[in-house]
Amino acid sequence: MKSIFALVDCNNFYVSCERVFNPRLEPLAVVVLSNNDGCVIARSEEAKQLGIGMGAAFFKVREKIEKNKVEVLSSNYALYKDMSDRLMETLCNFTPEIEVYSIDEAFLNLAGLSNNLTGYCRKIAETVKQWTGIPVSIGIAETKTLAKMAQRIVRRFSKAAGVFELTGRASIDEALAQTSVENIWGVGIKTAIKLKRAGINTALALRDVDVNWMRQCFGVTGVRTVYELRGISCYELEEQPPTKKGITVSRTFGRKIEEIYELKEAIASYASRAGEKLREQGLAAGAETIFVMTSRFVDARKRYFNSHTVSFPTATSYTPELIDGAIRSVERLYRKGFLFNKAGVILSDLVPEGSVQRNLFDESDRQKSRRLMGAVDAVNTRLHRRALTWAAEGINQPWRTKFVRRSKRYTTRWDELAEVG
Ligand SMILES: [Mg+2]
Repeated sequence: MKSIFALVDCNNFYVSCERVFNPRLEPLAVVVLSNNDGCVIARSEEAKQLGIGMGAAFFKVREKIEKNKVEVLSSNYALYKDMSDRLMETLCNFTPEIEVYSIDEAFLNLAGLSNNLTGYCRKIAETVKQWTGIPVSIGIAETKTLAKMAQRIVRRFSKAAGVFELTGRASIDEALAQTSVENIWGVGIKTAIKLKRAGINTALALRDVDVNWMRQCFGVTGVRTVYELRGISCYELEEQPPTKKGITVSRTFGRKIEEIYELKEAIASYASRAGEKLREQGLAAGAETIFVMTSRFVDARKRYFNSHTVSFPTATSYTPELIDGAIRSVERLYRKGFLFNKAGVILSDLVPEGSVQRNLFDESDRQKSRRLMGAVDAVNTRLHRRALTWAAEGINQPWRTKFVRRSKRYTTRWDELAEVG
């Protein structure tokens, strides 16, 4: 069956994530800065209208920001990653075929799922907004390149979430005529300059070029773009997940946690699980990020999200070290009076265990700790998981996640799906 692509893209993703946990930001102009607060990497619509450019160096726009009382935030990648996971999980309820294209974008294949694609995608957008709080815009077309173009058109014409289906000869022609070559998906700046020199300025002109000429000048990639503009799909979904840059263990608690000792137990147990995953892959971690959060479905004053990262002087896979770092982070992140409902551990800066750079002042006996972890993992594999656990993980674990409800919801949604097509 021929694929039908929908590109789902979050509007001002980082800013939208921040607004979910801080609704005070909703009507304000907001920008998010890159690591070390170097430059602007996300802007709300209001900030865009003030003329603050994407990627602008902070010191260059500082005056404008202060004059217009723009809210300035440092990036909070743990929050963005978690919201992204929820977005993708939500999308999985609508199609089994999904390609996670970037942190805030996914291609879906909707072939055979509905006779009313626009309606179906409106439902997707509504559900995403309801379940995650993030507004999305969606472009629908027969190829990825056209779906990208459709999504761009939505963003140009409606500032809010929207859906645009780019099918039918007339509307495709019009869209292509209005898109200049540098705005076509997969056309880089160098290619765009060359095309313009050859008198090809719009996507419409590019669609109608001679394919042989295109092959000579731009190779097979150029030809694919031309075919994609003609509605012949050359790029199918790439469903394999991208290579792992980090290991994440995060859970929604079985019940809300108010006390710091319970939060520490939960985090210690996630750190311990993350350590197992790390050793299963023969890796060691250079950094550990902990995040804690309340539900977003509570009064704004009761919402809280924060994260903290510790770097290890020597990359490690030794669980007591991971637990120790995690607990120190919880001590910084915990706020009394909030009801926490989720937390997570993200291990990053991963390196193969064998190539770990020994710190000259590292006094712990690495060999010995590696043997100890090997023994613990062996016992837990042979018996059952959690035969051996660390004292810090607690005994009763009343916060432990209950999975019953989650899987139930999943299957009922799939049942609904079956009736749509
Ligand atoms: Mg986006």
